Amino acid sequence: MAKRDYYDVLGLDRNATTDQIKKAYRKLALDYHPDRNPGDATAEEKFKEATEAYEVLRDSEKRSLYDQYGHAGVSGRPGAEGFGFGAEFDLSDALRAFMRDFGGFGFGDLFGGTGRTRTRTRQRQGNDLQVKVKLTLEEVAAGVEKQIKVNSLVACAACKGSGASPGSTASVCDVCGGTGQIKHVQRSLFGQFVNVTECHRCDGQGKVVQDPCGECRGTGTVRGSEKISVKIPAGVASGNYITIQGGGDAGERGGPKGNLYVIIEELPHSLFERHGNDILMDLPLTISQLALGTKIEVPTLAGKVLLKVPSGTPSHKIFRLKNKGIPRLHSYGVGDQMVRVVAWVPDKLSKHEKDLFQELEKSLGERVPRPGER
Ligand SMILES: [Zn+2]
Ligand SMILES: [Zn+2]
Repeated sequence: MAKRDYYDVLGLDRNATTDQIKKAYRKLALDYHPDRNPGDATAEEKFKEATEAYEVLRDSEKRSLYDQYGHAGVSGRPGAEGFGFGAEFDLSDALRAFMRDFGGFGFGDLFGGTGRTRTRTRQRQGNDLQVKVKLTLEEVAAGVEKQIKVNSLVACAACKGSGASPGSTASVCDVCGGTGQIKHVQRSLFGQFVNVTECHRCDGQGKVVQDPCGECRGTGTVRGSEKISVKIPAGVASGNYITIQGGGDAGERGGPKGNLYVIIEELPHSLFERHGNDILMDLPLTISQLALGTKIEVPTLAGKVLLKVPSGTPSHKIFRLKNKGIPRLHSYGVGDQMVRVVAWVPDKLSKHEKDLFQELEKSLGERVPRPGER
């Protein structure tokens, strides 16, 4: 699919001020933020698209390149902060950009991880990774520590991540002289400008491995896996995530590790339906229990409690069991359990039951309110 114009993405015209750019982006980002649209791939795409547009237009240098040359002027420029070297602008880049300028908004990154900004060093940081962790409602209510296995690139043991075969070392790149960059002076209608690109020989790293390690073919990384333990606080919800700095892929040839985003996914519960920090449960009762009143045991997330249903309780009335819901994330207080009593009507009646109902109907049939009456 063709890339949309960055100004169109943000709904702005080409002479928009930085302030207007920031405002337009903030609104879109809040609408499409993955925390607010868990599991919605279209929203995630829109969030990434808006963030990418914002990252270019908020920066006067990148903006003027974009204005002159369009997408070609800003894609994959070495050292373009926030973008990988020519790599796709991915969700973690977008989340990081959003967090950097707008912080969280009450949920989202549970530990407020700031993420590392990519530096202009030639050492390439490993990729950020995402994993989903599924939690039961009981785990959400109590908080839990999870062991997760992450398949990632790890440092090669044979060369200790250097990429050079044991005993050898990397030498300075003879194409770029160790800077990792190649400068081209170009003339155009707009005058002369210097175009800096990543050195193709050393991939911008300034060093070349002459004798690559046989285990990792010179990359310094191999496929592996890591077991990571994640503490998840009580009260999380689907779409919340935890940033584990350095939990992602190892960087090539000793570069810093990427981050790991642990994304929470809540499993549906057989009894309870979650509404924010409250949980709702339906409790079937007979018409006589509702009419006469009763005491009945009901399940909660932490054992059973006795519920007193007074006489004359209408069907669908909701009883609140205080503090039997989900704890508020990073705050005090616990939600409630709502118990909705629902009249249960038998689908078959014995002869005796039928007689009793018919007897009851002689009196109740007169008293039932007609529509519009009370
Ligand atoms: Zn190796
Ligand atoms: Zn080079």
